[in-house]
Amino acid sequence: MLAKIVEVLEKYYGGIKSGEFPAYDAVVRKMHPLGVLISIVLSQNTSDKNAFTALMNLTRRLGYRLSPESFSRISDKELEELIKPSGMQRLKVRAIRELLKLVNENPDVLTESEPEELRKTLMSVKGIGPKTADVFLLMYRGYPTFPIDTHIRRVLYRLGLAGKNEGYESIREKVMRMLPESKYLSAHLLLIIHGRRTCTAKKPKCDECPVRNLCRRVSVADGSGT
Ligand code: SF4
Repeated sequence: MLAKIVEVLEKYYGGIKSGEFPAYDAVVRKMHPLGVLISIVLSQNTSDKNAFTALMNLTRRLGYRLSPESFSRISDKELEELIKPSGMQRLKVRAIRELLKLVNENPDVLTESEPEELRKTLMSVKGIGPKTADVFLLMYRGYPTFPIDTHIRRVLYRLGLAGKNEGYESIREKVMRMLPESKYLSAHLLLIIHGRRTCTAKKPKCDECPVRNLCRRVSVADGSGT
């Protein structure tokens, strides 16, 4: 059923533009893997517009790749100021500094570590959760995992494919069983696009939804949503 939904969304929304997603954009622009990871950190708990602004501030100051070396010439205070548009700047600076430490101790950690090991290592960094680790593994390493963000969680719940309080790992594993690995990246991006444009948090546009015939509309009454 989810495979069918993704197929319909693919036709409806057409091609995915990298400019809509900071992390995807960072991969396409061939940023340093640390830069890709930082772009994911900047996307946490904010809009992509704010994350892009913070990222642009950083790349203007440190160069477009955001290599580990470039961070040696910037203080935490300045770093905080540059990434302020993305919010939670103190916590994010702390996470960025910890990631830098990891990379300085082992320059190949992001590119060569066994993916499941890397997932654990990244999640041991304060401020890095499973979603951030999974976005990096899927987008940069091409590792078959499925990051679940708030849009995806909401859309899957309304479709009747995830429980209201279902845990991250349970949803991730369920989705991975429902889709072929080759579809993980496009399905992840398409479900986010669908959540942003049609199955919005407030007042989902069920009347114009391309998958309305496949949707159970859990907790959606009169198009008002939950
Ligand atoms: S029919 Fe409504 S609730 Fe279901 S996926 Fe579409 S917009 Fe969301």
